[in-house]
Amino acid sequence: MREVRLGDVIDDYCVKCKRIMNHSVVSLVNSGPAKVRCRTCYNDHDYRHEQAPPPKVDSRKAALFNEVLAKVQPEAAPAEEPEASKSKGKRKK
Ligand SMILES: [Zn+2]
Repeated sequence: MREVRLGDVIDDYCVKCKRIMNHSVVSLVNSGPAKVRCRTCYNDHDYRHEQAPPPKVDSRKAALFNEVLAKVQPEAAPAEEPEASKSKGKRKK
């Protein structure tokens, strides 16, 4: 692996651009990049080794939340909508 120096341009994941972008090395630890700066939005952040952060919304939690919501607010469920009878004829199924 080649030596990285301050100011070198390396690829890393930018949280603001939400993609792999060119970054300048602004800080080194143990001859590896510690902090980098996005060359597109100039956002400084820890070097992420080109890994995107995990998505904030956990789909399992979201599903559980909807399940609880359906129990607490039965009227919020789509099947209970009073408007449902109106759109019945338009549906193809
Ligand atoms: Zn950026």
